[in-house]
Amino acid sequence: MATATVTPGTHASAFLSGTKQLIIDGEHVDAADGGTFETIDPGTGEVLTSVAHGKKEDVDRAVRAARKALDGPWKTMTPSERGRIIHRLGDLIMEHVDELAELDSLDNGKAKAVAAAADVPLAADLFWYMSGWATKLRGSTVRPSLPYLPGEEFHAYTTKEPVGVVGQIIPWNFPLLMAAWKIGPALTTGCTIVLKPAEQTPLSAIRLGELALEAGVPPGVLNVITGFGDAGAALAEHDDVDKVAFTGSTEVGKLIAQAAGKTNLKRVSLELGGKSPNIVLGDADVPSAIAGAANGIFFNQGEVCTAGSRLYIQNDLFDEVVQGVSDAANNIKVGHGLQPDTEMGPLVSSEQFDRVTGYLKIGSDAGSRAVAGGNAIDGKGFFVQPTVLVDTTDDARIVREEIFGPVVVAMPFQDVDELAAKANDSVYGLAAGIWTKDLSNAHKLAARIKAGTVHVNTYHIYDAALPFGGYKQSGWGREMGEEVLSAYQETKSVIVQL
Ligand code: NAP
Ligand code: MG
Repeated sequence: MATATVTPGTHASAFLSGTKQLIIDGEHVDAADGGTFETIDPGTGEVLTSVAHGKKEDVDRAVRAARKALDGPWKTMTPSERGRIIHRLGDLIMEHVDELAELDSLDNGKAKAVAAAADVPLAADLFWYMSGWATKLRGSTVRPSLPYLPGEEFHAYTTKEPVGVVGQIIPWNFPLLMAAWKIGPALTTGCTIVLKPAEQTPLSAIRLGELALEAGVPPGVLNVITGFGDAGAALAEHDDVDKVAFTGSTEVGKLIAQAAGKTNLKRVSLELGGKSPNIVLGDADVPSAIAGAANGIFFNQGEVCTAGSRLYIQNDLFDEVVQGVSDAANNIKVGHGLQPDTEMGPLVSSEQFDRVTGYLKIGSDAGSRAVAGGNAIDGKGFFVQPTVLVDTTDDARIVREEIFGPVVVAMPFQDVDELAAKANDSVYGLAAGIWTKDLSNAHKLAARIKAGTVHVNTYHIYDAALPFGGYKQSGWGREMGEEVLSAYQETKSVIVQL
C-alpha cells in the first residue's frame, strides 16, 4: 500500500534544488520566455522541482547549436576519441547509479531498487556497447559491371556519414534508458542531438546531458529541451532537423510521420505501442510460466510498451496459471518507489491513473471479472492494484487496446493454429512470449508470430546488442544492435572512372 510520507533520496536532493534549466550549446539556460513547469512525485502527488518549459523558440536555438556542432570538433575527432567519450559516459552513469535511480524513481514512480538494478546499468551498457561501434563504422568497395560501358574501368566505394541533426522525443516509462537508447547510436555515428524528454519525467535527461558534457561530448552535440508536446512537435516539423526518432504512443507517432511528410521529409524512426501476447502452451513448466507471465505484465507497473498484456493459456493449464499469476499479483509489494522493499510503484501521473482505472471500468462494464486486483489504491499517489482479468471476448476493448498499466487479460485456447491467428490479430506487433518445454514447438510458433521480439521461456529480456522494435503499428525501424546504426547514417556511393 502507498505510504504517506517518504524522506527524499539522499543522492538526488542536490540535483533537485533550484529550477532545472535547458541544456543548449553546453550551457544551462532558461527557456526564452522564462517559463517553467513543475514535475511531481507520482508516489505522493507533491512537487519535486520546477523545470524550464522549452517551446518552439528554444527548439530553434537548440537546433542551431546542434547544426553548428555538427561541423565542430565532433566532426574532426577520430572515431577512437569519440568511442572513448561514449564509453566514459557509460562509466559516469554507473558512478552515479544511486542518483540516477533516485531521480527516475521520484519522477516516474518506479522502484528505486529496480531502476538501480535495471534501468541505470542497461543505460550504461548501451553506451559501452555503442562506444565499440565508433571505430567500426565503414562502407564497402564495389566492382560495378556497367554492361553499357564495355571495356571501361571503374572503382566504386561507399562511405557512411552521420544523418545530421536529430530530434529525439522520448516517453516517461524508462526516462534514462529511453534517452540512452536514442542518444547512444546518434553519438556513435557522429550526429548531433536535440532531446525532448517527456513532460512527466524531465529530470534524468537533464542530468544525463550534464554527464555527457563531463564525459567530453562537445557543447552543442547533445541539447536537452524539457517541455511539452508542442516542443516535440516543433522538432518533428523543423526544416533543419534531418531525422526524428520517437518513442511513445502510436497516436503521436502518426503525427510525427505526418509532420515529417509535410515539411522536409526528414527521416523518421518510431517505437510505438503494443498489446503483446504471452502464450502458455500445455506442456509449459508451470512455475516458470506463472512467474514469467506475472513479470511480463507487472514489471515497471505495466508501463512497458512490450508488456505481455494478453495472456493466452492452453485450456488444461488455464485455472492453475490464472491462480498463480493472481497470487503473484496479490503478493506484490506496492509502495513509494524509494521504500527499499517496494516492488511496484505508482503510475506515472494522474492522467495515466485515469486511463488505467478507466480501462478497469470498461472491462467490468463489459462483463470481465477480476481474479486479482481490479481497483485503484486509496491514498496519496497514483496507485493501482496489480490486476488479472478473465471472462473477456476477443473483441473487448481491454483485449485490443493498450492499457499501459498493471492489468493483464487472461484467455484460454485449445488449438495452436487458432491461437497463432489470435495472437497476430492486433494492430500492434512489438513483442511476444512463448512458454513450452518443446523447443520444436517454440521455434515453429516463434516463426509465426508477427512481433519484433519473441521471448521463449523468458520475458522482458533486452540487450544493447539485440535489435528492438515493432511490426505493424508498433513502429518503424529498430533500436539497438548493429541495425540501429543505419537509422543514423546516410550511405554515399562514390564512383571513379579509372
Ligand atoms: P505520448 O504523448 O506519445 O508522449 C511521448 C512523447 O511525445 C513525450 O515526450 C511527449 O511530450 C511527446 N509528444 C506529445 N505530443 C507530441 C506531438 N504532437 N509531437 C511530438 N511529440 C509529442 O505518450 P503519453 O501521452 O505520455 O502516453 C499516452 C499513451 O502512450 C500511454 O498510455 C501508452 O499507451 C503510450 N505510451 C507508449 C510508450 C512506449 O514506450 N511505446 C511510452 C509512453 C506511452 P509530453 O510528455 O509533453 O506529452
Ligand atoms: Mg514527474
